[in-house]
Amino acid sequence: MKKHVLAAILGASVLFSAQAGTLHVGTEATFAPFEFMDEQTKELTGFDMELIAAVAKAVGDDIKVQNMGFDGLIPSLQTGIIDVTAAAMTITPERVKRIDFTEPYYQSGLVILVKKDNLDKVKDLDSLQGKTICAQIGTTGAMMAKHVKDAKVTEYNSITEAFLELKQGGCLAVINDKPVVDYYLARRGDKTVTTLPQVFDAEYYGFGVKKGNKEMVAKLNEGLKKVRESGEYDQIYQKWFGTKAQ
Ligand code: GLN
Repeated sequence: MKKHVLAAILGASVLFSAQAGTLHVGTEATFAPFEFMDEQTKELTGFDMELIAAVAKAVGDDIKVQNMGFDGLIPSLQTGIIDVTAAAMTITPERVKRIDFTEPYYQSGLVILVKKDNLDKVKDLDSLQGKTICAQIGTTGAMMAKHVKDAKVTEYNSITEAFLELKQGGCLAVINDKPVVDYYLARRGDKTVTTLPQVFDAEYYGFGVKKGNKEMVAKLNEGLKKVRESGEYDQIYQKWFGTKAQ
């Protein structure tokens, strides 16, 4: 009899956790306006943070966010430390071999950031051949930099460090996501650096989950669909980018 009661309780709690629970979210919070620390509240904020919270809420979950290095996100999914990444992570063929992604939730692209003083030397990606490039470790910007012939690529834990190194003259260019560079330029009001006109704009962000976790992908896609239909997605987009969602 007792065993049955226990089994019933266990069964109920398993059922309960499948319906409502806590999503453990991994991020890398130096990536404004997607994920960063609000200086005043000391809370993590940004487009991704608000979107993943809304998506989770739409399917009855709450979230707990863990901040870590960008290169630690995929291993953390694989070992079950986190359930999902919300980290402006581009869906790439290489990553799709290691993890699964939700539907794309943001269209992005890469740009090249240089000091204005060097605009005569750097005009496009090809003019970086044999030169020094800074990027954030494990990112698509770093991958693109490594494809430039003979370039010397230095990877930093945070994009903030790469921006700083550019300003200090440690590298000739930074390759990074356009919305992040645009936000940096707008917020810092930095007139000494600028982006090149060339934009590599075929990147889409998705929330990443452990390879094979179909239930989680389905749940998050359902949540995404709901927040798109409710208009919440548009509100969050407008708040962080100041324009209508594409
Ligand atoms: N979108 C880029 C990538 O996926 C950069 C992400 C990031 O630095 N948070 O590699």
